[in-house]
Amino acid sequence: MAQAQVTQTQLNQSQPIYNNNYGMPPTSSSDTSSSDTSANAIISTNKSKLAKTQLKVLPLHDNEYIQIQRYFLKGLPHARIHTIIKLQMPTKLVEAHEQYKKTLLNNPSYGSNMTTNNLISSMKSNNNLDKHTNTMFHGTKISCNPQRFINGNSNFCLFNCGMCGIIQNGNQGKYSRFNGRMWFANNSAISLGYCGLSTSRTMFNCTPFSSKNSLMAMFVVDVVSLQTSDIIIVDVDAATLPKYLILFEPGF
Ligand SMILES: [Zn+2]
Repeated sequence: MAQAQVTQTQLNQSQPIYNNNYGMPPTSSSDTSSSDTSANAIISTNKSKLAKTQLKVLPLHDNEYIQIQRYFLKGLPHARIHTIIKLQMPTKLVEAHEQYKKTLLNNPSYGSNMTTNNLISSMKSNNNLDKHTNTMFHGTKISCNPQRFINGNSNFCLFNCGMCGIIQNGNQGKYSRFNGRMWFANNSAISLGYCGLSTSRTMFNCTPFSSKNSLMAMFVVDVVSLQTSDIIIVDVDAATLPKYLILFEPGF
């Protein structure tokens, strides 16, 4: 009887630790995002390199759309999603992001409490590269009407538009209003506080923002961090890679 209890305890311990640890959204988008990342990496090395971000409007029935929608609406159940755009970032940003993951794992302080065997096998496993990747939200200001993206027009504001900047170049600490640090939350309600209209409406090459159109912009970003928490703050651009842009009305 005592033996049976020990076995049971071991089973109970090993399973939840493996499943719960890394703060991925409970939508189990870990499957798509990790396989998706490696698929993108393969595509980007085999095919011509992307110099500019590709925007793809996701159909409503698309599995990725459904997962992102569920994750987003958890924090903002009354919001109305207008469009979810999948972002394929320029190859150099994807490569810098992948390199950052490797650098993190090779850091001597990483894995100091792992056995050598664990460390070696985890470094060989490509899947392990994604285990510190957190799917997070990032709200930003917009100076233009994002409706044009849906019609296939991808002209961008030259400056003063957080949305256009992130679509083209990813999150950049130099544009942070927080001393070079970039904030990400795993709850869309928190990130909503950072959304809105840019106060200075300087725009070029962009459709002027109409007051009739009250769309807001929130990004879903892969953020690599050893610490998993509701809010992750990073100061390295390559730690982040935008995956989706959600255009929405907050619903209040
Ligand atoms: Zn813009």
